[in-house]
Amino acid sequence: MYIGRFAPSPTGPMHFGSLITAVASYLDAKHQHGIWKVRIEDLDQPRTVKGSDKTILDALHQHGFHWDDEVIYQSHRLDIYQSFLSKLNEKKITYYCECSRKEIADSAITGIDGMIYPGTCRNKILDSNHHALRVKVEDLFIEFEDKIQGGIKQNILKEFGDFILKRSDGIYAYQLAVVIDDALQNINTIIRGSDLIDSSSRQIYLQKILSLPKVAYGHVPVATLNQKKLSKENQSMPINISNVKDNLIACLKFLGQDYEVVRKENTLTNFWATAIQLWDISLVPKIKTIEI
Ligand SMILES: [Zn+2]
Repeated sequence: MYIGRFAPSPTGPMHFGSLITAVASYLDAKHQHGIWKVRIEDLDQPRTVKGSDKTILDALHQHGFHWDDEVIYQSHRLDIYQSFLSKLNEKKITYYCECSRKEIADSAITGIDGMIYPGTCRNKILDSNHHALRVKVEDLFIEFEDKIQGGIKQNILKEFGDFILKRSDGIYAYQLAVVIDDALQNINTIIRGSDLIDSSSRQIYLQKILSLPKVAYGHVPVATLNQKKLSKENQSMPINISNVKDNLIACLKFLGQDYEVVRKENTLTNFWATAIQLWDISLVPKIKTIEI
């Protein structure tokens, strides 16, 4: 059975960009009679805005989403992340890194997603105090077929380098937590924004070294305004809860769907029933960003 999810970070009110991802992941799951779960990704406590988890869940509820199972919070799962991290420590494929941002910037070249860590601390013996923990990656290609964007092939070592699993401030890295949660929640299909497409190969790599099941990925275009991603941080377009139907129609339009038929529905229940029936992932534009 299809098990999908939506995993917002509670860093502010729901905005148009995250509503698009919620709609796409929900429709893709429900079109295939699947399950759809919600997970709050609140590991980065300094960025978390108190109460915005509730605001986001309320917004989902008012837009007529129904999620399966209880909502889980990453901040309640630190012991779980540590137990998986310990498995990698035992395999001796992790190491502490004492490099400052500046030191890395001075010696590294820029890759697809920030600096490529040159492996400076690979052979140092450091204790854990206040150091970031990295995983020693192999020189290999990760290949996958994205349900929307097509074939992706990346060399983990050459394009990202040894990446961080736990930050120097003690916060578990997004890549690690996501992979563990998706596996433990039995998620098998992930539909999310294309700003995360370059995280996928690192996540597939972690699945491999942690012996966790593979997942299918589909990355929808990200909405941009003046070439910048809409985000809670830049206060872009928080959604207006009084225009639920207009918000959803705008999402369907953005996702290349046939929204004219759906628009005629009078109730939210009928709206969703029709949208679920008509959902066609092959109509989603195969591009990474769309300027709105
Ligand atoms: Zn280092």
